[in-house]
Amino acid sequence: MRFLSTRGGRDVTAAQAIQLGISPDGGLFVPESFPAADLAGILKRGSFYQGIAYDVMIPYLEGFTHGEVLSGIESAYSRFGDARVVPLVPLTPSESVLELWHGPTMAFKDVALQMLPHLLTQAVAINGDRHVIYILVATSGDTGKAALEGFCDVPGTRVTVFYPHGGVSAMQRLQMVTQAGKNVSVCAVRGNFDDAQTGVKKIFGDRTMAASLGERGFRLSSANSINFGRLVPQIAYYFSAYAQLAEAGTIRPGQLINFCVPTGNFGDILAGYYAVRMGLPVNRLILAANRNNVLTDFFRTGVYDARRPFSKSMSCSIDILISSNLERLLFELADRDPSLVKEWMASLSETGRYDIGIERISRVSSLFWSSWCSEEETLRTIAETFNSSRYLMDPHTAVAQKVYGDYVRETGDDGTHTVLLSTASPYKFPSAVLSAFTQPSADEFADAERLFRLSGMPMPAQLAGLRGREERFTDVCDLAEMPAKVLECAK
Ligand SMILES: *Cc1c(COP(=O)(O)O)cnc(C)c1O
Repeated sequence: MRFLSTRGGRDVTAAQAIQLGISPDGGLFVPESFPAADLAGILKRGSFYQGIAYDVMIPYLEGFTHGEVLSGIESAYSRFGDARVVPLVPLTPSESVLELWHGPTMAFKDVALQMLPHLLTQAVAINGDRHVIYILVATSGDTGKAALEGFCDVPGTRVTVFYPHGGVSAMQRLQMVTQAGKNVSVCAVRGNFDDAQTGVKKIFGDRTMAASLGERGFRLSSANSINFGRLVPQIAYYFSAYAQLAEAGTIRPGQLINFCVPTGNFGDILAGYYAVRMGLPVNRLILAANRNNVLTDFFRTGVYDARRPFSKSMSCSIDILISSNLERLLFELADRDPSLVKEWMASLSETGRYDIGIERISRVSSLFWSSWCSEEETLRTIAETFNSSRYLMDPHTAVAQKVYGDYVRETGDDGTHTVLLSTASPYKFPSAVLSAFTQPSADEFADAERLFRLSGMPMPAQLAGLRGREERFTDVCDLAEMPAKVLECAK
């Protein structure tokens, strides 16, 4: 299995795609074809997640040692707090919730970032690279902590996370600055997330930096969500949801179901699209946006227009206007013609918009459906779902739940079983969730306790463990100091 660049550059092996992260021509790596899944075999696995992860990932990983992939899977998912890894919880007869947040950081990024270090270290070995792999991350909150947990004390790796000073929640900051591990560091940057992201991109593009790091035995790499090594572990949970439904007798094998996905960078729902291309029986992939609804407009009109104000919301992990993984779907919509993708991407960077035409977007309108959710609707949905089903959801999951309601109203499809992807524990955003019921305080730990008293839903151990733990990383730097910080950590 080779990997093509969406912008037409040289094709590479799986190991190269995973080590490079992004193609040198600026494109994303996509598999040359979609392997057909053995659905009957996967259904036999039932709720044995590790087995399904193996079945789904291995056809993409030519050149990797099967035993090492398997032991990577075992170690990655042994850190999840539920034996099914991604438990499926019935909500109503026609709706279930797939809880993707039982990993160490309470958000769905763990599913991919617990696995990526195993794939990346193996890729580096296959490529014969002897450098220490230095992962740089700019984060708006969730990715940084998940990368720190994933790479913590992984031999042959180093990781530094930059986050915007004052730009992440108290809980998210505490999760990062108390991180254990000999190979990790965390630094706040004076600026917003885009500044931190631009700073990291500059370091990646800086040849003198690469040379100085090379002399010290380091090579930069990225744990960004455009890396195929982050995408491939996510395909597995779509199959797992299906197998859990079949095992419970909720659906018959072969029956079509819907998935509803709170979407930002388009990584999560793209994994669902890849699952469909591998043969998973899916009626609709429902894309749920918050008020940064650029993707909803795109799926309804074929016009992607990022020229709109960026709006901070309580479902902050999907506050995104430039959705980078969409480029992989565009490649398919362009019938894999890279010149079209390049044209659209050039138009996006020059004018802030592109138009693929109503005809092209209509070709996927029987698969993708989209709507969005306001802030008031997010809070109302959290309260209503708890009152009717005694199920407490985080703001991102609530966005999906509200959009599913829109879908049923607009299409009349209330019979197809629908799986909501729940991407974070409500305890990751305790003050926001509490505000659906009552006035929150300024203290997220106090709000988490109030939420516990109100809902009875157990608090994750990771959360309680944070309180009072030593803050290891208190540095704050200016944007201009980021390269020096990286060199300082490369020792
Ligand atoms: C990252 C994230 C998302 C969005 O996933 P994409 O792959 O960027 O679409 C949704 N919810 C939570 C909690 C996240 O951390």
